[in-house]
Amino acid sequence: MNVNTAHKITQQLLAAGHTIAVTDEDADVIIFNTCCVRNTAEQKILSHIALAKQLKRNKPNLKIAVIGCLSAKRKISGVDILLGTDNAMEILDRLGVTKRPLPMTQDSTAYIDITYGCDNYCSYCIVPFVRGRLRIRPRAEILAEFAQVKDTAKDIYLLGQNVNEYPHFPQLLAELASQDGNFSLHFLSAHPKDFDIETIKVMAKYPKIAHDVHLPMQCGCDKILRLMNRKYTVADYLNKVKLLREYIPDIHITTDIICGFPGETEADFEETVQIVKQIKFSAAYIFPYSNRSGTAADKMPDQIPFQTRKARATKLVEIMRQMS
Ligand code: SF4
Repeated sequence: MNVNTAHKITQQLLAAGHTIAVTDEDADVIIFNTCCVRNTAEQKILSHIALAKQLKRNKPNLKIAVIGCLSAKRKISGVDILLGTDNAMEILDRLGVTKRPLPMTQDSTAYIDITYGCDNYCSYCIVPFVRGRLRIRPRAEILAEFAQVKDTAKDIYLLGQNVNEYPHFPQLLAELASQDGNFSLHFLSAHPKDFDIETIKVMAKYPKIAHDVHLPMQCGCDKILRLMNRKYTVADYLNKVKLLREYIPDIHITTDIICGFPGETEADFEETVQIVKQIKFSAAYIFPYSNRSGTAADKMPDQIPFQTRKARATKLVEIMRQMS
C-alpha cells in the first residue's frame, strides 16, 4: 500500500515538472512516506527525519513532509506537512500540484485499493489503530479504475489488509479476470481465516489470475495463534494450503512469520519450524516480534527477550534459505 501511495505521488510530481533530487542536500522537498508496523521501521524513519531537520537549519526553504501511518500514530514537531494514510494524497495540494490522469507504460504494475483499514485486531498489529476501521471501496470505483489500467498494465494488484473481507470477493475476482487485456491479476493480502474454496476455484478457472498467493501464517502453533487473535488453527491453514495445491498445482505460496511472540516457548517455536518445513513456502517474510504500544500483545505477560526473538527468527530464515 505504501509503495502504491509513493508511486502515485511520485508520478504526479514528475508530471508537474518536479525532478527527483540526487542527494538530500539538493532537494527542495523531502517526503517521508512512513510505516510503523514494526518498531525498527519507526526508529529508522525518526532518525531520517532528524537528519532532514538538521538540513533545514541551513536551508530554511526546504519543505519536510511526513505522510502515512507514523503521522497518524504520533505528533512530529518541526516538519512542514503532516498527513495520515487517509489523506496522504493531499500532499499534492499542499505542494501546489494539480492531480491529473497519468498514462500507464506497457510493462507497468498497477495497484487498486479495494478496502481500506482493518477490523481484525490481531493482537500484535497496529494497523487498525493507524489505518482505521475497515472501509469497503464501492465496486463501481474499482471497476472504473480497472478499466483505466487493464489494457496497458502487465500486473494488476488488488490491495487490502484482508482482501477476502471484500463482499463477494470471488465474484469480483472473476469479473475482473474475465475482461480483455494482457494483464496478470494478483491480490494482496489474503487472510487465512477468510480465504475460501470459492476464491481458490476462481483462481484455478481464470488464466489471468496469477498463480501466487500471499497467505500470512504468522505462526505454526495453535496456542500462539489464539493469543495472536488470528481466528484460525494450524489445521485450518494446512487445509487451505492442501486445497490450493490440489486445484492449482503450480501455486506459489508465500507467508509472514513472527518469532518470539509473548508466551512462545521453545517447544511452540519448534512447532512453527516443523510446519514451515512441511509446507515448503516459496518465500517467507520472517521477523522477530515487535512491540507496538496500544496493542493487546504489548501488555501480555511472558514477553520474550529480544535476543531470543532474534535468534529464533535467524534460525527460521536459515531453514527457509536452505529449503529455497
Ligand atoms: S488482518 Fe492484517 S492488518 Fe488487520 S489486524 Fe490482522 S495483521 Fe493487522
